Amino acid sequence: MILIGLGANIPSEKGGPEVTLEAALAVLNLRRDIEVVQRSRWYRTSAVGLTDQPDFVNGIAEISTRLGPLELLSVLLDLEAEFGRERRERWGPRVLDLDIVDFDGLVADLDRDGLTLHLPHPRAAERGFVLQPLLDIAPDWRHPTSGEKGSDLLKKLDPTQKVDVL
Ligand code: AMP
Repeated sequence: MILIGLGANIPSEKGGPEVTLEAALAVLNLRRDIEVVQRSRWYRTSAVGLTDQPDFVNGIAEISTRLGPLELLSVLLDLEAEFGRERRERWGPRVLDLDIVDFDGLVADLDRDGLTLHLPHPRAAERGFVLQPLLDIAPDWRHPTSGEKGSDLLKKLDPTQKVDVL
């Protein structure tokens, strides 16, 4: 299963975060080499790390593709740029953030042509805004590295972390 995490918390030229995320999914699905198979509901979530910024909208999509992991990352980075993401402040506000959460269970650190990719996404297991929407579409998902069930990982998280269905 190939799972993409989507997030946004400031408007793009397309509109507010939800509009941006819908548009990003539509663009991905229009590509001949990517199909959006299913997607979660959108969630309103509080920012983690740098907390003094607007709430995020987050969701997860399952895609199928014949692209390899680094090729897919490159497509996602181009899409972020196309949607006007410029600032690269860690944890900072995002017009559009696209992450590869899981690429068919692959556990790998890839580095090629200036691109770095950690799989599964290193913070997937600690983030309610990843796990909650992920469980919408993949209730039996297990973390590729630890084998732990997504639902068990979610139970361990701080219950005050806001993850509300939009
Ligand atoms: P950020 O903007 O904070 O999401 O970081 C994006 C950068 O993280 C990308 O340029 C990637 O090289 C790197 N990265 C490492 N692992 C992943 C992953 N699983 N999904 C997306 N980006 C990743």
